[in-house]
This record gives sequence, C-alpha cells and structure tokens, in this order.
Amino acid sequence: MESTAKDGSSVTVGGGVEDVYGEDRATEDQLVTPWTFSVASGYTLLRDPHHNKGLAFTEKERDAHYLRGLLPPAISTQQLQEKKLMHNIRQYQVPLQKYMALTELQERNERLFYKLLIDNVEELLPIVYTPTVGEACQKFGSIFRRPQGLYISLKEKGKILEVLKNWPKKSIQVIVVTDGERILGLGDLGCQGMGIPVGKLALYTALGGVRPSACLPITIDVGTNNEKLLNNEFYIGLRQQRARGQEYSELLQEFMTAVKQNYGEKVLIQFEDFANHNAFELLSKYRATHLVFNDDIQGTASVVLAGVVAALKLLGGSLADQTFLFLGAGEAGTGIAELIALEMSKRINAPVEEARKKIWLVDSKGLIVRSRKNSLQHFKQPWAHEHEPVNTLLEAVQAIKPTVLIGSSGVGRTFTKEVVEAMASFNEKPIIMALSNPTTQSECTAEEAYTWSEGRAIFASGSPFDPVEYDGKIFVPGQANNAYIFPGFGFGLVIAGAIRVHDDMLLAASEALAEQVSEENYEKGLIYPPFSNIRNISAHIAAKVAAKAYELGLATHLPQPADLLKYAESCMYSPVYRSFR
Ligand code: NAD
Repeated sequence: MESTAKDGSSVTVGGGVEDVYGEDRATEDQLVTPWTFSVASGYTLLRDPHHNKGLAFTEKERDAHYLRGLLPPAISTQQLQEKKLMHNIRQYQVPLQKYMALTELQERNERLFYKLLIDNVEELLPIVYTPTVGEACQKFGSIFRRPQGLYISLKEKGKILEVLKNWPKKSIQVIVVTDGERILGLGDLGCQGMGIPVGKLALYTALGGVRPSACLPITIDVGTNNEKLLNNEFYIGLRQQRARGQEYSELLQEFMTAVKQNYGEKVLIQFEDFANHNAFELLSKYRATHLVFNDDIQGTASVVLAGVVAALKLLGGSLADQTFLFLGAGEAGTGIAELIALEMSKRINAPVEEARKKIWLVDSKGLIVRSRKNSLQHFKQPWAHEHEPVNTLLEAVQAIKPTVLIGSSGVGRTFTKEVVEAMASFNEKPIIMALSNPTTQSECTAEEAYTWSEGRAIFASGSPFDPVEYDGKIFVPGQANNAYIFPGFGFGLVIAGAIRVHDDMLLAASEALAEQVSEENYEKGLIYPPFSNIRNISAHIAAKVAAKAYELGLATHLPQPADLLKYAESCMYSPVYRSFR
C-alpha cells in the first residue's frame, strides 16, 4: 500500500521497508525478505555470542574459520580477557552501567560472560540480579537495545504455539516467566519486567549449571496499571490497563498448554514476580499438570527453612520445640510457614494441621486469629488459630513468646528495640530473620539485632549486611538469598527429568543447603554457607532433589545414575572455551 508523505515522497505502509525520507528508493528494493544464510565462520562467527571467543581464537582457528584479518594479531587467553573485563567493569561507578556492560558481554561472548559471573559471583550477583536488575527493569525502555527472551502479549492470543516456535533453540529445559505485575519491591513494571527472567536464568546457568541454550526467559504482557509507564514514550509494552479475570486466565492457559505441547512434560516453568493473587492461583492450578515452581513462594520457603534447620545446630533442640511468629503474611510469609509446618509434621509424625499450631502470623491488621477467619484471604486462613485479637507486633511477641521471629512484610524498621529486647528476654538465643528487601526495608539491621540482644541473636536477613563487632566478638550475618536454592533445585529437576514438583523436593533442598554449613561457619554465627562456594552447593542440592524425584517416581531420566552428586557435577555447564576444529 502506498501513500504520500508530507514532503511529497511516497511511503510504503504495512510491511516492507518504510521509506520515510525518500532516500533509499533509488538504491534499494523496497520490499525485501529478511532472509540470510549463515554459517558459523568468519565474520558471522565473531558475531555469534554462543561461539565467539574474540581475541582468544588461536592461530589455527583463525586460519580454519576465515578469521584472518578480522581480528588484530594479538592472541589472548580467556583468563586475560576476564581480567581485562573485570577491570573495565570496576571502572564504572554507576551499577546500571555495570549491568549494561555485562548485558553487552552476554550478547557478544556468552562463555566469557558466564566465566566472569561464576568466578566473581559475590561481586556481580548484585548487578545481574537484585538490586541493580530492578533499576534496569525500571529503565528497560530506555536501555533496551536487543530483545532478550520471548515476549508474549495479548496480541499473540491464539498464536502462542507459533510464537514459541519462533525461538531459535528447541531443547528448552527451564523457562522463567513473569507478567511483570510485582517486580521485586518495585510494583507493576509491565513488559519491562523482562529483566527478571533474563537475570534469573543467567543465575540458573552460572550458579546451577543449566546450559544457556536450554534457558528461555518469557514475559507475558497483559498491559500495565503503571500510569508512568503508559505515558512514557519509550515504554516497550502494550499500552493498556492490565487484563484480568477470564481474559487473563485464558491467555495463561493457552501459554501453559503451548509450552507443554512444544517442549513436553519435563520443561520447568518458574513463575516469577507475579502479583500475590495470581501467584498463588497459578501455582495451585498448574502444579498437578505441569512442572511448575514459584521462587517467591517455594524458593523463599526452602531457603528460610534451611536457615532455621541450620540454626537449630547452634540452638539445640528440635524443630517442633520452636514457636514461630511472622510479620507479613504474603507470598513469602505463608510459603515459609507452610513448608516449616510440613517439615515439622514429618519430623514429629503428626498431621500438618497439628504442626501449624506452632506457627503464628501477623499481617497489617494484627495477629491472624480465628475471629478474623471469614475476612481472610484463603492462603491466610490455615493460620487463624484460637487467640484473642492482638493489634501490634510487640504485643504479639509478648503474647506468643516465639523462639523464631521472621519479618516478611516488606516494611522496614518494624523489629524495634522493644521487639528485639522482648525476644531476648525469654530466649537464650532468639532466631531473628529480617527478610524484607531492599536493605532500607529490612526489619532491623544486623547491628541492631546483635546489639539489642546483647550478642545472643542468631540473625539472618534478606539483604546483605556487613559483619558486626559486638563486645569484642565478630558476628557474620547470613543472607537468606533465594539464589542459594533455585538454581540447584531446578538443575536437580532437569537432571532427573522430573515431571512434577513435590513439596518433599523442597524439603530435600533445604536439608542439602543446611548440611553445607560448616563448623567454621557456625563459629561465626553463620547459618548459611559462604556464597562463593555456590556451584558446589548447587550440585549437592541438585543431587538431593533428583534423588527425591526418583524416590517419588517422578523422574524420567532412567536408569537412575548410581552417584547423583557426581552425575550432577558432570552435567554442569562449564564456561571454559572449546577448541574449534
Ligand atoms: P507480599 O506482598 O506477598 O506480602 C506482604 C505481606 O505483608 C502482606 O500479607 C501484607 O498484608 C503484609 N503487610 C504489609 N504491611 C504490613 C505491616 N505494616 N504490618 C504487618 N504486615 C504487613 O510480599 P512477599 O512476596 O511476601 O514479600 C515480602 C517481603 O519479603 C519483601 O520485602 C521481599 O523482598 C521479602 N522477601 C525476601 C526473600 C528472601 O529473603 N529470600 C524472599 C522473598 C521475599
């Protein structure tokens, strides 16, 4: 179709190349098919991030693959490239610039990207994941260069299977999907939530060992209620309010069906940063038919349970001896509470309802008690125990006398001096976990927990805190980071060819993580092992999760390998360059 532009030149509309300026017409065909034939050699090889090694191509490879002249004469090693890049990245003052440099590297030289991430995990994790990834999502429209991952919007309704087939890689093992409604603590970021699946999958590879080509980040765009984004000219998503109800669930149903049709039973679908209502619903709806996992609910639960189990070593006593009080009864809080109750019920061989009685939750309206039951959301109802109404956290602490206090409300500074002192008044070693992120929202700081409890608290937090000196002793606070669990957990499912997630697998993951805490770590007050050892930790978690999958008859990779730990280690992706013939 042709029409006339303001300057009088003709413009091709609807397909083909738009000739806005009227310049190309003389020199190029206007209707072209974007078809190229490519082989991974020469110039194409240098631009293929999966195979590109940059200056690390050897003389022989340069000859064999038509690279002569396309690279300067120097030949580098991967180690030297890593040194140079880390040096460059450290020059940036602004974390978002580091994020962009890393994204660029990922698009240029995938193996080098993962080598950097694996070897410098503690330094780079806050860049590729929280907190910097949050800022990247907020500014995604502006920093967007090349699409990463798959976008499925309402426009693709009825065509989702076709869209999946457009993805260049066919053997997918892990999908991380978000609808962008609740990105970290930042709220609705719509289509710009893509940074989250991309970041999480980078961790699946770097920390867990899943091959990058087996990972697929997906963002489902059903609109956004974020007015600021809707009015931003650089916004990359659908410009409409969020679809809800039937329209939403039909799209999700089509998506879930298409994924199974295209990739089979064994593909792991990790739901990420969905809003509360959808997160619970999707998990319960699809857990019986698909291999699904929600990191915000189940991953968090598993990592916190691991911390509690490890803390019992410092504390003495059993899990069933503990009384738990949560501040915050959302995805994290109720997910953790449920998994702790399950573990407790198994240990004491009692019904889970019995174990739940040892666990209390406070939400924004006070202690969750029986008299509030009818007005509670369904996921809070199991926690409505018999008790008179209690309005504040301090009163709840005084009334319930918990041994473990867990903050998961997203509201900072709520573990006040009075609350911590109350915990320390009836516990020799109170366990205090301030999980809310980011650091400004932490219920209390590590220093406050140690000082107000006179150095007796066993403390861990969601955001990292530096070691604290109190009364001449150094305390190292642990970080209940989900990245301890999900990469190894997912990898375990993958190596077993698991077809469903069972809660017992989450318990197995917690146990495996708790077992990795050494005597030396305990001496410093740590209830999580050092993160620098994460690949080894992930292999242990994967082996235990896979073992549980076999035990439950949910594994399809048969026969079961004799030594699952060795098998897990042998399957882990290595970022070391390969030699090309
Ligand atoms: P959510 O929105 O699902 O739940 C928050 C809950 O807190 C809701 O039940 C809400 O009613 C309640 N709440 C809000 N204000 C309150 C107040 N003033 N007093 C008492 N309760 C209040 O969020 P979520 O996914 O459960 O996450 C909660 C927090 O936990 C976030 O800060 C998140 O960053 C953090 N988190 C940490 C980890 C980790 O450390 N590994 C993992 C997941 C989530």
